[in-house]
Amino acid sequence: MQLETQIIHNIPVDELTGAISVPIYQTSTYVQEAPGVHKGFDYSRTNNPTRAALEKLAASLEQGDAGFAFASGLAAIDAVAKLLKAGDEIVAVDDIYGGAYRIFTHIYSKFGIRIKYVNTTSVENIVNAISPATRFIWIESPTNPTLKISDIAAIAKIAHANNAYLVVDNTFASPALQQPIALGADIVIHSATKYLGGHSDLIAGLVITKHKEHSEQIKFIQNASGTILGPFDSWLVIRGIETLSLRVEKHCANALKIAHYLTTESAIENLYYPGLTSHINHEVAKKQMSGFGSVISFSLKENTIEAAEALVTATKLFKLAESLGGVKSLVCHPAQMTHKSIPAAQRQAAGVADSLVRLSVGLENAEDLIEDLKQAFKKIKN
Ligand SMILES: *Cc1c(COP(=O)(O)O)cnc(C)c1O
Repeated sequence: MQLETQIIHNIPVDELTGAISVPIYQTSTYVQEAPGVHKGFDYSRTNNPTRAALEKLAASLEQGDAGFAFASGLAAIDAVAKLLKAGDEIVAVDDIYGGAYRIFTHIYSKFGIRIKYVNTTSVENIVNAISPATRFIWIESPTNPTLKISDIAAIAKIAHANNAYLVVDNTFASPALQQPIALGADIVIHSATKYLGGHSDLIAGLVITKHKEHSEQIKFIQNASGTILGPFDSWLVIRGIETLSLRVEKHCANALKIAHYLTTESAIENLYYPGLTSHINHEVAKKQMSGFGSVISFSLKENTIEAAEALVTATKLFKLAESLGGVKSLVCHPAQMTHKSIPAAQRQAAGVADSLVRLSVGLENAEDLIEDLKQAFKKIKN
């Protein structure tokens, strides 16, 4: 069965009523016939039918053993980090999501978990960084905001040869374009806030595990820490996932058209989109992804904060906001927004130039979006 069909039919019809939409079980507790005798649900932190439907769907989308829904992408990251103990080490992608960097640096380092950051587009860097204490190799592919691609299958082999697991934050691809577990990864994380929710109307996270042992541990951590997704937001994510294939197809088609237009824009210095043959990791992207997503970044020849600010405030359809993967197109200036907390020198070394602009291409008409960018570029040239 193809993914589009799978997605739609892995959303169960309600057994009790036949409701075709998953009911929102807005309840904290469940009546028991006798102590401990119940229908599989006793308390909604532990288990909730709406959340369970989302979790099952997530597991099937990523071809994992089990799925778990959390209050945010960061809560999902936190749950996976809690699999570790003092003395363990993570080898992580150097341009990791800022929130992951923050939780590792300011919280997990206090508990004796060490993180080494390397450029994971080169497998050799990972081999050099691994030590006997390495438990996780932790990557994002594509990364934010310069869309670097790491070879998931090759890195999985290295992880397993070294008694470690590969964790992939699959947020920027979504399961519609890339399935890390099928490529060898052990744990997949999503900020469902982005493509899965798809409408910029919620915050949610998912963990999908390949191994039974991890499934049991994450289930325990989810219940013990209590960072669960509520029933209404679980329902919203299910509703988002119903149209995932369709949305992502249009996101990718629009982004490719816009990326091609941007190659002709004279004010641009560097353009980053893995779907362009000029992208440094295009071949790896082509090998492991069925499309290239809707995030495009570029720096300007006039490499200043001011030039980028002039551009991002001149667009009309592209709204100035953080986040990505939603219906409406967004534009963001990482140096002043998503990457503001990273010291300038470190940010620039990671390829986030002062003038770098990030687009999240939405579902509007591509020609209208191109016209919007054209008029914005014209304004900054005058
Ligand atoms: C947004 C994002 C997160 C964090 O997710 P929240 O839902 O905002 O907590 C984690 N990883 C990546 C790659 C993201 O883009």
